[in-house]
Amino acid sequence: MSKTPRLMPTNPGLFRGEVVRSRRFSPSMQRVTITGAHLSDFPWLGYDHWFRLFLRLPHQVDFVLPELSGSRWWDPYYAIPEAVRPHCANYTVAGFRPEAAELDIDFVVHCGPEGEPEGAAAIWACAALPGDPVALLDQGLIFDRPADATEVLVVADESGLPSTAGILRSLPRDTVGRVIQEVPLAGDRRPLDAPAGVSVTWVIRDDATAVPGAAALDELRRHHAVAASGYAFVVGESTLATEGRRHLVRAGLPKDRITFSGFWKSEKKARKLAHA
Ligand SMILES: Cc1cc2nc3c(=O)[nH]c(=O)nc-3n(C[C@H](O)[C@H](O)[C@H](O)COP(=O)(O)OP(=O)(O)OC[C@H]3O[C@@H](n4cnc5c(N)ncnc54)[C@H](O)[C@@H]3O)c2cc1C
Repeated sequence: MSKTPRLMPTNPGLFRGEVVRSRRFSPSMQRVTITGAHLSDFPWLGYDHWFRLFLRLPHQVDFVLPELSGSRWWDPYYAIPEAVRPHCANYTVAGFRPEAAELDIDFVVHCGPEGEPEGAAAIWACAALPGDPVALLDQGLIFDRPADATEVLVVADESGLPSTAGILRSLPRDTVGRVIQEVPLAGDRRPLDAPAGVSVTWVIRDDATAVPGAAALDELRRHHAVAASGYAFVVGESTLATEGRRHLVRAGLPKDRITFSGFWKSEKKARKLAHA
């Protein structure tokens, strides 16, 4: 990721849980709901609150978790022998109901060059069954709007849609600004609880061969009305994040008023170059 999370919990805790249900939320998004004995205590901050998700892989029998102490999770994680090491990927809280000790996670269902499902986490989500074990490590927020920001611009591909939804739900109701949200298909659009002064532009990719994030970047490049006193949050495929930031800096937004994060990196670009 391109930027250090702002609100890292001082004593990050590992929350153990299990799957309650898994369902196709939209054509390209699988929603998995989890529960756990201590999940009600998850210190949810709203906005784009994210976590590291640990999953048992199909070939694994036991669910081996790192023994965490302090904030350095990766040393104990990589100390686990590879054969039994759980998969780890980053996800955003899509919904949280402490009274029911339930937390929703929205997984982008993505496919490889032949249309085959790819990504251990995405494949896991689509096959998840009630009782399957999970664990999550709280990572706090990345969204970091300065208190004096006069407007907010949020730009994301579908991996950032849970962040967009959470940010819009959490923003003060008098916030003004714009969202540019790319999704693979029209059916992936969803109702968003946006403040009245925040307009939402859905960018429908509708092209299985296109690199996610490129269409949102095109739309962002057409957006020039950037107030230097605003704030922008640009996340998704790494080119969207880095080139989106470059555009905003050129348009006059100071670097310290831009949060950008490459949520993932496309191998399609590399494949296209290899075949050029
Ligand atoms: C802070 C943060 C929050 C995030 N929140 C979410 C979230 O709520 N929901 C979500 O779906 N993702 C989210 N992501 C992105 C997610 O962590 C990555 O997409 C991750 O690579 C998925 O893991 P995987 O095991 O499915 O695929 P991997 O094993 O990591 O990758 C396998 C292959 O899939 C490709 N790939 C990975 N992700 C995508 C994608 N989205 N679209 C197309 N191809 C892809 C890779 O290029 C690679 O070729 C977040 C990332 C960060 C940093």
